[in-house]
Amino acid sequence: MKDNIYNYSRSSFEKYFLSIGSPKFRATQLFEALYKQRIRDFSEMTNFKKEFRVILDQNFKFGDLITRREQISADGTQKYLFALEDGILIETVLMSHSYGYSVCITTQAGCNMGCLFCASGETKKKRNLTTAEMVLQVLKIDNILKEEGKRVSHVVIMGIGEPFDNYENVIEFIRIINDDKGLEIGSRHITLSTCGIVPKIYEFSALELQVNLAISLHFPTDELRSKYMKINRKYGLEELFKALHYYYEKTNRRITFEYILLAGINDSLDDAKRLVGLVKGMNAYVNLIPYNETGIFKRSDEKTRRDFFDYLMKNGVNTTMRKEQGHDIDAACGQLRLKEMRCVKD
Ligand code: SAH
Repeated sequence: MKDNIYNYSRSSFEKYFLSIGSPKFRATQLFEALYKQRIRDFSEMTNFKKEFRVILDQNFKFGDLITRREQISADGTQKYLFALEDGILIETVLMSHSYGYSVCITTQAGCNMGCLFCASGETKKKRNLTTAEMVLQVLKIDNILKEEGKRVSHVVIMGIGEPFDNYENVIEFIRIINDDKGLEIGSRHITLSTCGIVPKIYEFSALELQVNLAISLHFPTDELRSKYMKINRKYGLEELFKALHYYYEKTNRRITFEYILLAGINDSLDDAKRLVGLVKGMNAYVNLIPYNETGIFKRSDEKTRRDFFDYLMKNGVNTTMRKEQGHDIDAACGQLRLKEMRCVKD
């Protein structure tokens, strides 16, 4: 069976080409054809000899995502509903910022993490997305932007799914979009968000890629976090923070903590105090998120959010309050979470 050509990073192609007796540099040529020239037909890859094009054609296909729906919100946020080859529907969101265009990627069809406040958890994981299915989300949108002389400048891996539960495919995806012969999205413009699968944080620390890490913390005590986020029953706060300190030692990179403010649950000043206790002294950045009301929970009112924010700032914690995008197209968490991540600005 033919494999999808967008499943392979350049180094994976190099290994493959060496194994079939072709020189390594073909990988770079192929990448340029795929990602610079955007060729989607092997017969058009005229920089390769015919015999080589035939080999590629026998072994690989391009695949595609079929656009089922497109919604545009008043603030310019665009949501795409794509069908995968087996008919599964996924969502990808394009957000426009003063600093560029960012795309929010889905990594799994459904999610098994079961966070109570998150609507994606209501759909059990059907399967992991392949690397190609993630690459195609970026490519499709970049092709649309290209027609207007624009490009995708940032990628946030924060759509439906837990990226660390689909680790290999997600890392290969990051390699492809980051490659300067690929989509050339700078590593500092790529952010991966996880609910905290600890062994993968260690693995991620050893990676040569300098991408941003965001942790969906949301609750400042084990009692609360375990109640609302199943993952905390497996990897509690102590273990999580031990891994994060290790990550920081290894990479020297700032860590973003996401914290949804849920009315009456995690939004008191005592909670803020506990949060300060957890992140103080770390090179941390807290992103306060107004909850998108998808289930039984309510978002904290504005004054509570403001007070929480002020408390963190007064106590020396670098904090931002996330502004929402795409509210009017219902394109936020659950169906799709729309993020304004300051940390991906630089
Ligand atoms: N599984 C990963 C990435 C997907 S979730 C993770 O947990 O980080 C992306 C972010 O959206 C997480 O921080 C998640 O907790 C948050 N989120 C989920 N439901 C939300 C909602 N209704 N409103 C606001 N943020 C939500």
